[in-house]
Amino acid sequence: MQRTARTVIGARPSLPARILAWLDAERSAVDVTRGGGVDADATPMPDPVADRIDILRCLPFIGLHLACGLVFIAGFSWAALTVAVLLYLGRMFAITGFYHRYFSHRTFRTSRAFQLVMAIAGAAAAQRGPLWWAGHHRHHHNHSDDDRDTHSPARRGFWMAHMGWFMTPRAFSVPERLVRDWVRYPELRMLDRFDWVVPVLLAAACFALGVGLDLAAPGLGTSGFQVFVWGFIVSTVCVYHATYTINSLAHRWGRQRFATGDDSRNNMLLALVTLGEGWHNNHHHFPASTRQGFYWWEIDLTYYGLVLLRWLGLIWDLRPVPAQVLERSRAGS
Ligand SMILES: [Zn+2]
Ligand SMILES: [Zn+2]
Repeated sequence: MQRTARTVIGARPSLPARILAWLDAERSAVDVTRGGGVDADATPMPDPVADRIDILRCLPFIGLHLACGLVFIAGFSWAALTVAVLLYLGRMFAITGFYHRYFSHRTFRTSRAFQLVMAIAGAAAAQRGPLWWAGHHRHHHNHSDDDRDTHSPARRGFWMAHMGWFMTPRAFSVPERLVRDWVRYPELRMLDRFDWVVPVLLAAACFALGVGLDLAAPGLGTSGFQVFVWGFIVSTVCVYHATYTINSLAHRWGRQRFATGDDSRNNMLLALVTLGEGWHNNHHHFPASTRQGFYWWEIDLTYYGLVLLRWLGLIWDLRPVPAQVLERSRAGS
């Protein structure tokens, strides 16, 4: 990937560079580590610059949280809540099914066209682009709960694992060395570079939908502003924190079926909230399988959705859990 900004080790970038990074992630110049961000093992951890939260860079993220208070101005309607719930489910599925099980772990195959559809769906969750997400997640698997893991609750505390880690310069850039298989797709790189575009379009679509509903069915009692607040702002923040629980709570709270050498846990409640990601100890033991719930009682809604996409012919070659892994599980190791 072409990097337009010069990397400076141990120095905070200029104010304009940090603000420009909102619009063009590649121009961010906030990679204060040696050219590879999180994967720059030369930079000590914690580092006073690389691991300090950059409030200015994260203002859009902080603003989205504060904007949840707009529900008191926008008011409530069942229509707006329905849009919020549907967008929660759809984007949670895109994060777990596409960003995680496809872009991070390649647990199934698809066409280049549907690959782009999946990337756009994931980008709609406003969790940066697919390369950024997959690269940082692969780094987590390489360093689970060791002293280089950026979001280990045991090493860095609950809140850094939950959300602080990606608010620091160490995590701002794409760890390119870890996503060499994806950088050859210019359409994916564009999504990473201009990662705000898809979320802004979704926000506009929510507003337009609300205006349309108000015109077509005034009895629903909704408006453009209300659907924007519930469907985009509240729903996005809910998807955020559901996703983050896998980095924080799923490394603390639950059962360890496999001795994975890290703190990953299986947790039914988290699996329901995140549509299947809560079987996190299973996943750390065998990340290459499409399903994370290894048994029928381990509810994994994302997997069922992916089976549906396979049935529709959009994806194929879903990788199963090998028999020896299930045997090991029954033996309790
Ligand atoms: Zn983990
Ligand atoms: Zn994973």
